[in-house]
Amino acid sequence: MRGIMHLPGSEITMARTKIYPKYVHGRWRKLRNFFSFGLQALLFTLPWLQYNGRQAVLADLPGRKLYLFELVLHPQDTYFLHLMLISGALTLFLVSAVIGRTWCGYACPQTIFTQAFIMVERWFEGDRAARMRLDKGPWDAHKISRKLGKWAAWTVMGMWLGFTFSGYFLPIRHSFTQLMAGEVSMTTGITIAFFTAVSLFDFGYFREQFCCYLCPYARFQGAMLDRDSLIVAYDARRGEPRGKVKDQGRGACIDCSACVQACPTGIDIRKGLQLECIACTACIDACDEMMDKVNQPRGLVRYSSLNGLEGANQRLVRPRLVIYTVLLSLLGSLLCYLFIHRSPIGVDAVRVVQPGGQLALITPDGRVTNIFKLSLVNRLNEPTDFTVETEGLGEVQLAGLQQPVHLEPGQVVEDQVLLVAQQNLGRGGHPFKFVVRNQHQGNNWAKANFFIP
Ligand code: SF4
Ligand code: SF4
Repeated sequence: MRGIMHLPGSEITMARTKIYPKYVHGRWRKLRNFFSFGLQALLFTLPWLQYNGRQAVLADLPGRKLYLFELVLHPQDTYFLHLMLISGALTLFLVSAVIGRTWCGYACPQTIFTQAFIMVERWFEGDRAARMRLDKGPWDAHKISRKLGKWAAWTVMGMWLGFTFSGYFLPIRHSFTQLMAGEVSMTTGITIAFFTAVSLFDFGYFREQFCCYLCPYARFQGAMLDRDSLIVAYDARRGEPRGKVKDQGRGACIDCSACVQACPTGIDIRKGLQLECIACTACIDACDEMMDKVNQPRGLVRYSSLNGLEGANQRLVRPRLVIYTVLLSLLGSLLCYLFIHRSPIGVDAVRVVQPGGQLALITPDGRVTNIFKLSLVNRLNEPTDFTVETEGLGEVQLAGLQQPVHLEPGQVVEDQVLLVAQQNLGRGGHPFKFVVRNQHQGNNWAKANFFIP
């Protein structure tokens, strides 16, 4: 994409020009609304869903657990999360390589909720021209009532969003009960207030600046697209030279600026692909409407690729698509395998430094002690007893743990265990395993190193 993308740089230091996107109807608007309502319904519903008697989707930060329906991830399972994040990133790469920044225009919460806030703004202040007039006009009773009404509605929306977002981190039913009883804990109150404030600031005021200046995705989109990726583009070969309707010898573009007025990031698509373009397709609808009015074929602004715009051959299958697809398939298979074969017991062991900064201590009778912090997780859906023993150290005593260890479903226990071994093992590190067994569900182990000074 080198050479065709407009890079905003010095604009970052310029004063912000407020954008008043004009509402446009059209087939792309309908499709965007469909996605927007569907995704909002999903976002507002997910935290309320229950699974096995608990919240189905919850990032329980104090409990250090991530619930995703059947999957419950503990700190010991971060590899799962990493693999899922890598898969998500690869999916984004693949989608971007095929259809550009469709995620931004159709599925990103930033776009969806900014559009929802703009919709409410339109109810109170009217469409683009009316909003511009209102902002330029004096602060009379009409303007004050419009602005107050808008911010009151936004505040209600922000609070509802704040409550919903908080529900992904705190049990939402519990928060709701607290709210209904008027006995909101400090944690719940601060979390809801935080998300409410962020929603109001971001969707009410900050808006497109997030996409243009903060979102990293916009910055590296150039690396993800190629000359065959579909992008929202202006067909300069057909449109130029632009001119007014009555101008002789002009191209198809009647220079009406409808595409610019509809753009939520305030750019002119006729300047080529730009970082600020979130592929929302509003300019396609706006231009199609104009083309209908002047009896010209639609599609002056349309989904196309750079090769398509230049009339060159377009390739559907490209090396990067093959590589992304293969990698995604491998990662997906690996995730499925790991999920199916996941041990019902999670175990992790970390050495604890002993008093005086020692890794090991010698007892008066000549034996050696090492201390480890042992974390156990019951991933089963039933209360279970586990036993812990060591393998690979010969005869050792394991103290500090009451056996069997009884764990409720999903419960995590962290305890310090003391290992006492004979000095005749020899100096240095001795690799061994903590083996955790369950009578019916198999076993799992964690590697550790016993140190003899
Ligand atoms: S240029 Fe078109 S597709 Fe890009 S953000 Fe503006 S209106 Fe949306
Ligand atoms: S809407 Fe279409 S015709 Fe009007 S300025 Fe934009 S590209 Fe030209």
